[in-house]
Amino acid sequence: MKKGLMLLLAFLVAGAMVFANGGSEKGSGAPQKRFATIGTGGVTGVYYPAGGSISKMVNKKSDVYGLKVTVESTGGSVFNINAVMAGDLEFGIAQSDRQTQAWEGTDEWKDKGPQKNLRAVCALYPESVTLMAAVDANINSIEDLKGHIVNIGNPGSGNRGNAIIALENAGINWETDIKAEGLKAAEAAKMLQDGRIDAYFYTVGHPNGSFKEATAGKRKVKFVPIDNIDKLLEKYPYYAKSVIPIEYYPNAQNSSDVPTFGVKATLITSADVPDDVVYAVTKEIFDNLEDFKKLHPAFGVLTKKNMLEGLTAPLHPGALKYFKEAGLK
Ligand code: GLU
Repeated sequence: MKKGLMLLLAFLVAGAMVFANGGSEKGSGAPQKRFATIGTGGVTGVYYPAGGSISKMVNKKSDVYGLKVTVESTGGSVFNINAVMAGDLEFGIAQSDRQTQAWEGTDEWKDKGPQKNLRAVCALYPESVTLMAAVDANINSIEDLKGHIVNIGNPGSGNRGNAIIALENAGINWETDIKAEGLKAAEAAKMLQDGRIDAYFYTVGHPNGSFKEATAGKRKVKFVPIDNIDKLLEKYPYYAKSVIPIEYYPNAQNSSDVPTFGVKATLITSADVPDDVVYAVTKEIFDNLEDFKKLHPAFGVLTKKNMLEGLTAPLHPGALKYFKEAGLK
């Protein structure tokens, strides 16, 4: 009798567990939760906090959309585009020049060919190709980099290619005229302070954690202008002149804003990502734009109009649906 009761209880418990599982999958009527990850950059850059802000806005409405967005720190633009194309990430932040090159199948994508599944969501904020050097290395112009140890960035970063063409424009061969390092941007500030490198390139929005860190140490550092770039701008129409506002870095040994060239950070995705997922992300960025702009000084210049400029890949249909509804397209 006792044994029989135990068996009956065990049977009932097992039955209840099966029911509970079935119930949680189908029962509540809420949309099933999906996950989307945004590939960003190093933790001292601006992609990482930008991705974090976007994910927070969407996750506030997680129940409405049945969607949870997470953020991953990555090697940067080139990595993000490739990971989104491979289906490993749903979204990525990527420099506008890299978006163009991937869409057209040039530069890093020469062998793979045009990335036909690449889709644009929107443009974010401007990024500047930034060169910082130690004052004791006597580097006052990009030409002075000859013979020095210079971090041009990890393969997978957007900045590595920018450093190479900036050097080329100054008549410097990155393979023979300098000792080029391939470190991630997040490590560069410390390496500069430790005397392991003389200078580093980073294409990034301002202000950012990397140059705050580099200017906070004992070794005196300064931004180096990248000028005489008319030929470069002619050859690569997707670059534009820009300046680094020195007010963000009171400890840098510069007395005025520093000229260089730049791109835009953009949000990209794949044609394979469902329309409603891209719609949700687009809508939350645009509907909350005023709050988003307050989260980082680099976002201050954003307008709904300029966020549709600087994109080469076709807009994802989910983003387009929102832009039409909002009267932006
Ligand atoms: N522009 C850099 C890259 O594409 C990343 C900058 C950042 O993380 O803010 O690699």
